Amino acid sequence: MGECIFCKIAAGEIPAVKIYEDDSVLAFKDIDAQAPVHFLLIPKKHIGSILKLTKEDSSLVVHLMEVIKKVAEENGLNQDGFRIVVNTGENGGQTVPHLHFHILGGREMAWPPG
Ligand code: AMP
Ligand code: ZN
Repeated sequence: MGECIFCKIAAGEIPAVKIYEDDSVLAFKDIDAQAPVHFLLIPKKHIGSILKLTKEDSSLVVHLMEVIKKVAEENGLNQDGFRIVVNTGENGGQTVPHLHFHILGGREMAWPPG
């Protein structure tokens, strides 16, 4: 996955403003924030999208959910709420082919999304 930008961020080869990191996941600030708070949470191992998850990733997926909760709480998003977005594939608007969870907050979100 030599050309994957999020693999490079996970490997420390491209800088990012990290807000949480452990052995298996990393959260960092989105470079083009769409809300006052906009983080991305990724698994460190390359998974192309949610469509590439397998049974072996079950505990990783649970861990990603736990980290979303932790990051939201630690950044004050648990008071007024927030949104999690996982763009998937072309129609979903996915531009980086490495699974990532957008965590957006600090303002009221519109519905339906664009
Ligand atoms: P998506 O369009 O859902 O695939 O989301 C990709 C996100 O990655 C976009 O919100 C970009 O702003 C963000 N992004 C791309 N490159 C970087 C980078 N080097 N550091 C932080 N965020 C990035
Ligand atoms: Zn990758």
